Amino acid sequence: MELERALGLIAEVPDFPEPGVLFRDLSPLFADAGGFRAVVDALAATVDPETDVLAAVEARGFLLAAAVGYARGLGVVLVRKPGKLPTVAGRVDYALEYGTAALELPAGVVAPGQRAVVVDDVLATGGTVAAACELLEKAGAAVSGVSVVMELAALDGRSALAGRKVSSLLVA
Ligand code: IMP
Repeated sequence: MELERALGLIAEVPDFPEPGVLFRDLSPLFADAGGFRAVVDALAATVDPETDVLAAVEARGFLLAAAVGYARGLGVVLVRKPGKLPTVAGRVDYALEYGTAALELPAGVVAPGQRAVVVDDVLATGGTVAAACELLEKAGAAVSGVSVVMELAALDGRSALAGRKVSSLLVA
């Protein structure tokens, strides 16, 4: 089936970005017309009909959420790395395995009470998506789901997202 073939295009790259890490590279999947469409269609099917807006995590989440938003008739809120947005509604700092990172939400694009689904490519420890959820909730939105292509089960991202509806097309 096309979705299975599509997910099989994800490459495993050892020792990136540092020794001991097995990086999942979605580049071959994004470059494959049928594979990209199959993954976008499958992600679109995970989005609840009550959803008001998608929230996309920089950078591969942008690509996926743009296509899913088009397919589902939804707009996309860009959750960005610091320093990219001219006006900022909020910022959340979070811990990475080594060091820290931060995400920012643009000002004036999320209305209180909106139901948002967070879209990203890979769920690893869950810190990134948890930070995106926190940002949206601080802006008054309700996060009704999280949709990702791939979940790395060993890193237990779901525990950082306890109580949330998490949909992943592939668990590895
Ligand atoms: P987390 O915060 O540990 O869940 O990491 C998730 C974030 O890092 C997502 O935005 C992913 O794009 C990125 N990421 C982590 N591991 C991988 C990987 O193996 N392949 C691609 N992206 C990854």
